[in-house]
Amino acid sequence: MEYKPLLRSLVPGDLSGLVATAGLPSYRFDQLADWLFAQGALTWETMTNLPVAMRLDLASRFDLVGLDLVERQVSSDGTRKFLFRLRDGATVESVTIPMGEHVTFCISTQVGCAMACRFCATSRGGLVRNLEAGEILEQVLRLRADIQAEPVPESGDRQFNVVYMGMGEPLDNWEEVAPSLVVMMDGRGLAMSSRRIQISTSGPGEGLRKLVAANPGVGLTLSLGGSTDEERRAVMPVPGRTSISEALDLAVRYARGTRRRATVAWVLIAGSTDDPGQAERLATLLRGKPIKVNLIPMNPLDDANLLPPDEKGIQAFRQILTDAGVDTFVRTSGGRDIAAACGQLRRRRLKT
Ligand code: SF4
Repeated sequence: MEYKPLLRSLVPGDLSGLVATAGLPSYRFDQLADWLFAQGALTWETMTNLPVAMRLDLASRFDLVGLDLVERQVSSDGTRKFLFRLRDGATVESVTIPMGEHVTFCISTQVGCAMACRFCATSRGGLVRNLEAGEILEQVLRLRADIQAEPVPESGDRQFNVVYMGMGEPLDNWEEVAPSLVVMMDGRGLAMSSRRIQISTSGPGEGLRKLVAANPGVGLTLSLGGSTDEERRAVMPVPGRTSISEALDLAVRYARGTRRRATVAWVLIAGSTDDPGQAERLATLLRGKPIKVNLIPMNPLDDANLLPPDEKGIQAFRQILTDAGVDTFVRTSGGRDIAAACGQLRRRRLKT
C-alpha cells in the first residue's frame, strides 16, 4: 500500500517553500512549524489558527501522523520503553532513559537492521525497511509529550538528549537521518543544541564517510566489537567489512572536525570481548586519540547464550584502559526488567 509522505519529513526550508508556493504569507510557515515541532500536533483540527483551506490542501498531500503507540512499559528504575506501530504495520522501539538531571531519548532509524551484530536482538530478523525522517522525529515528539504529561522524577520535563541508538544502523539510512538532524537543530524545528545529540553507529565505512563529509556537529559513538579486524568481524560481521584502522581514522577526523571527542562503545560479553588481551590491544589503538571509551556490559537476550562478565571482570577490563591513559566509563543500561536490550520488545511481540 502507498502512503503519502509525512509532513514532518520536510526540513524547515522545504516547508517554507511549500507555503510560499501556495501563495500564502510567510507567517503561515511560522505557525505551521510551531504546530508541527514546538506543539507536536497530532491532528489537523488542532491547528486552529491556520485557514481550513490550507489544512485541507496539506492533508491531501501529506500525512501528519506516522506512529501509533502499541505498548508502553515503565521499569522499576524509571526507564520507559515504547513500541510504536508504523502506517504499514511494522513496529519500532524507542526508550526514555533517566540520566539524573535530564533524560535521554533513544530512537530507532530502521525497522530491523542489516548489520547482524551478534549481541543485538534487532539483528535477528534482518532489515525490513528504513524509517522516514518524519518517523524518526515523531518518536522524539511522542517521548517529549510523554515526559511533559508525566515528568520523570528529578529529571524535569523539558531537558532531553537524543541518541540515535535504537533499532537500526543510522548511517545505513543517512538520507533520512540527515534531514531529521536538520529539523532537530533548526530553531524552527526542535531547536536542540548539537551537544545534546549523539549518533551511535556500528561503523560501516560508507556511512562513516558520509557523516564525516556532512559534519553535522553532533556527537559520534562508534561500536568496535573487537580489537583486531578478525575479532570485530566475528562479533559484527557486516560493519566488520570496514577495517578498524579505517573506522578509527574516520572517527578521529570527525572528532577533529567537530572539536568534540568521539566515543568508542565496547559491549562486554563474558568469555569473548572481556578478554584482557583485547583491552590491551584496544588501549594501544586508542592511545593519544581524541576518543573515550564506554564499556557496556551485555544485556542478556531472550534467545542467545551471551552474558555480561561479572563486576570484577568489568572493572579489570576498565583498569587496563585507564592505566593506559584512555578515559573509560562503564554504562549499565536501564530497564532490565522490561526487555531493555534494543529490539527485544519488538521481537517478543513478533513471536506472540
Ligand atoms: S547493534 Fe545496531 S547496528 Fe548492530 S545489528 Fe543491532 S541495531 Fe544493527
